[in-house]
Amino acid sequence: MEVPLSLSQPATSAPSNSGLKSMADYKVLKEIGEGSFSIVYHAVEKEGAQRDVAIKMCLKKQIIRDKRVKYVHREKSALALLSTGDNWHPSIVTLYATFQDAENLFFVLSYAKYHDLLHIILQQPDKHLNFNDSVYYSAMLLDALNHCHKLGVVHRDVKPENLLVKNDGRIMLTDFGSSMFIEEHEKEYTQNGRRASFVGTAQFVCPEMLTGGKLGTASDIWSFAVVIFQFLTGDHAFHDESEYLIFRRVQDILFKYPEGFNDLAKDLIDKILFIDPEKRLKYSEIIVHPFFENIDFSSLQSIEPPKIY
Ligand code: ATP
Repeated sequence: MEVPLSLSQPATSAPSNSGLKSMADYKVLKEIGEGSFSIVYHAVEKEGAQRDVAIKMCLKKQIIRDKRVKYVHREKSALALLSTGDNWHPSIVTLYATFQDAENLFFVLSYAKYHDLLHIILQQPDKHLNFNDSVYYSAMLLDALNHCHKLGVVHRDVKPENLLVKNDGRIMLTDFGSSMFIEEHEKEYTQNGRRASFVGTAQFVCPEMLTGGKLGTASDIWSFAVVIFQFLTGDHAFHDESEYLIFRRVQDILFKYPEGFNDLAKDLIDKILFIDPEKRLKYSEIIVHPFFENIDFSSLQSIEPPKIY
């Protein structure tokens, strides 16, 4: 059955959003960037708190042409859930509202001044993060993922490009267009034998996504380990000339640590990158790993973030 492409209801969750919004409620300041079917603008609310927002404008025609309807609906459902009351989390992008016109769907999101973390990595003199900053951002990412997981959401596209840097230097996880609900997936997988279609990004993808295995929270934990490798080296752990060759490397866990790679990080990554998701360290084991010995996970938001500029 065709899923209607409509987001006409505002995110019921949205903190301070009541009633249907439209572009008339925002003053657009500038275009931030483009995705494959969207343009993102920096804008401010004209009334109320006059918050800075990012408005993601998605072209309906393109979404339908690219068969992305299901994923756009998922993105909205996951973001709405994660933006609701007590579910709100400072390290996850907030959905303030959704609305549409004849051609476009609009997502109004919390705004990140410094774009994404890949940007920040590439601006470093050695094109990688130092150890302390890597530990800090990894801890923030792990906390955001754990929050999603507790609410039954698996992100499935964890990578530095999807970590946006806010004006205070803290990060937020974004882009839930590849996300899935654990319950829904388990039902489809177990009852209907339906395997998930490929989503995500080759360099960060977990082996079970490639073999049609059951996906779950451990799938994000795999990508989390690959992200730590990139923070510390500036390189992808799994890198090759084509997606096909990258997939083969992932399935064989074929990667090399560069000389001088931090021992604690190596130990952590080695304890996560297993083909069998059950063997990977879990959140409760990761937070007590010596890699995070200087991080107090109970007061993460009070840690001073790295200086951006
Ligand atoms: P694709 O849709 O092809 O995966 P993408 O994820 O880059 O690409 P968008 O999510 O539409 O596409 O983002 C486009 C640009 O807007 C990116 O540069 C992204 O960093 C920026 N951006 C997205 N959301 C925000 C936000 N909340 N605050 C600031 N910048 C944002």
